[in-house]
Amino acid sequence: MYGQGILKGLWVTFRHFVNTYVDDIRYAGRKYLRQENFAIRQGLKAQGAFTVQYPDEKLAVPERFRFTPFLVVNDPDHPEAPGDDWCTSCGICAKVCPPQCIWIVRGSDPTTGRPVPQPEAFFIDIDICMNCGFCAEFCPFDAIKMDHNYELASYDRTSHHIHDKQYLSRPLSYWKTIAPTTALEEAVARGGWEHPDVLKAMKKAGQTAVTPTWDNMFTKPEPAAKPLPPAESADEDPAKAERLRKREEALARKRAAEAGEPAQPAAAAVEASAPAPAAPTADKPKFDKQAMLEKIRQRKADKG
Ligand code: SF4
Ligand code: SF4
Repeated sequence: MYGQGILKGLWVTFRHFVNTYVDDIRYAGRKYLRQENFAIRQGLKAQGAFTVQYPDEKLAVPERFRFTPFLVVNDPDHPEAPGDDWCTSCGICAKVCPPQCIWIVRGSDPTTGRPVPQPEAFFIDIDICMNCGFCAEFCPFDAIKMDHNYELASYDRTSHHIHDKQYLSRPLSYWKTIAPTTALEEAVARGGWEHPDVLKAMKKAGQTAVTPTWDNMFTKPEPAAKPLPPAESADEDPAKAERLRKREEALARKRAAEAGEPAQPAAAAVEASAPAPAAPTADKPKFDKQAMLEKIRQRKADKG
């Protein structure tokens, strides 16, 4: 009848209120000390108040939760290329980012100066990022993902909130841990756990990648085939061989110029270039991180 619903609601509230104290007695002072107790208090059998003692306790976020982006790199124990970037600095993420908060500096070969598919610098201004996830959606190399870490408060937003490449880089195993289902789906769609370019090269070389499964997700599977041939091997491709020869000549000329020696003839130059030590890179204009940060701050200030 009238007022019955109100009384029922009040009874539920009162029960929770009393159960909170009963719970305290039941856990004998260990209510907030053990992780398993936290899991029980957040489960279906929970009684009493459901308060989470943040930041000592944190609720697990769902797998699809997304906060700021991070860059995927190879695991440190990767057999061929530990820590290598998955990002090819193609710039698609920067283009699709609605508030335009991604800045990328493309890497270049230290000797020839030619662009290489690797970012030299990568910045994301997380004060501007709106966590839309477009960058991760559009990246053709699965190289940028949305992180679960939402604790980003700091006392200095001008520098700490502009995440650089070093801060952004996380190993693939981290992505597998925070989003196992998605990581597996993506790997199956790619055709292996490796970077798409590596898989493409393996396919070209007639090799088969290890099929991604739950079982091999966190274990290092045995390599399915022998190591890839060197990237520059161009025995069967005359155009590639010609490009390689020209590059070797250019390198040899550069080394000779740096050593103050007269340039060698082409054939000799190629021969000499093989055992030569790595060319010094002192002349290469260094990427100025401070200047880049200054530019970003200026742009931020201009935008108000
Ligand atoms: S993160 Fe992806 S989309 Fe962005 S530059 Fe790198 S490879 Fe391209
Ligand atoms: S999540 Fe959205 S706003 Fe943030 S960097 Fe990616 S595309 Fe830009």
